Amino acid sequence: MSSKLLIGYDVERIPGRVPGEKWVGRKVPEDSTSVFLKKIVEVHKELQVPATIFMVGCNIEKHLAELEKCLASGMFEIAQHTQDHYPLKTVVEETGSRVFLRGLDFDRMEEQIGRPVALLKKYLGVECKGITAPYTYYRGLSDRPDILEIISKSGMVYTRSYGRNSLDYFPLDWGIQPFFYDRQGFPGILECPVQGWLDAQWRHDNGWEKWEEYHSYLKAQVDRLESMNMCWSHLQHDWTSILFDENLHWTRKFIEYAAQKMEIKTYYDYYNWKKNG
Ligand SMILES: [Zn+2]
Repeated sequence: MSSKLLIGYDVERIPGRVPGEKWVGRKVPEDSTSVFLKKIVEVHKELQVPATIFMVGCNIEKHLAELEKCLASGMFEIAQHTQDHYPLKTVVEETGSRVFLRGLDFDRMEEQIGRPVALLKKYLGVECKGITAPYTYYRGLSDRPDILEIISKSGMVYTRSYGRNSLDYFPLDWGIQPFFYDRQGFPGILECPVQGWLDAQWRHDNGWEKWEEYHSYLKAQVDRLESMNMCWSHLQHDWTSILFDENLHWTRKFIEYAAQKMEIKTYYDYYNWKKNG
């Protein structure tokens, strides 16, 4: 059976805060979200390939026109990336950039997770089915049943929160495949781990302009996974996608290549396939 590819775009540019320009080492266009949303819809329409957009809640109202176009194309699922992009868990990288990020206080969790669900419903009529967690974590939310409970209460059925290895870094091995949070008492919530290198970290470490090399890395993963009957959850951001590639040339090239060899689904379609399969 062919492997599955889930493409998720974290749409999160918050000028002055996300991404940290000090960490990026350069200026990132303030209008990244607009530029990205206007162009990505054309790419997916043209290639007839589905994807999921994970929006930070605080930007939903500012980008309704673009998001409506994405929905109208029939190619996109829209889900969320929390209200303001704070880490849900503390990150302590033991290698690489050795970043330390303090996790959000629990008393703000409900607001940060619940608000985007309400906004997507109110402004776009979208039932938000999933959440991608800012920065991703080792073991995802396996050790946080308290957060899973909030996610479950908000009506969501999948998370994408496991993106780091035991050094709280990258890459995450492909052996970490999607799993339901049965042991935590939430058998209805599917975790879709983000394997490999996060695009931002690979490009931060190797050079933001090195699209060709990054593309080769992605292609090699497609070739390797093609016949392994696995699921690969791939992550790109609004701002990374247009950085040194405003016309999404490389993003299009990757999707074209992957679509020949893997079955591409939205996260929610994958959830349903997994649940019923
Ligand atoms: Zn993010």
